[in-house]
Amino acid sequence: MSMSENKVHCQIHGEQDIALMCSHLIESIESGKHVGFFTEDSGDLGRPDAWCKSCEDSWPNYNGDSAAWTESLGFRVACCSCWDIAKEQQAK
Ligand SMILES: [Zn+2]
Ligand SMILES: [Zn+2]
Repeated sequence: MSMSENKVHCQIHGEQDIALMCSHLIESIESGKHVGFFTEDSGDLGRPDAWCKSCEDSWPNYNGDSAAWTESLGFRVACCSCWDIAKEQQAK
């Protein structure tokens, strides 16, 4: 996967805008597992960052330290179309 600016080359969708998701959500795209879908709009990418229920549930452990929490989520770069697929799968 190569990256330039805010574009990513997705193996499925080709060149797309970047979206960030936690590793569990990215894995759920292939596995179809229901992991939940949470977002907060950071405004600087094509889609808001997204994470799963287990990541959301870990938030209270960080005592409001959003930087440490965000790091623990291990966000990975995905493409916008994959983000859309994850959102749709998790909405079912
Ligand atoms: Zn997660
Ligand atoms: Zn994709």
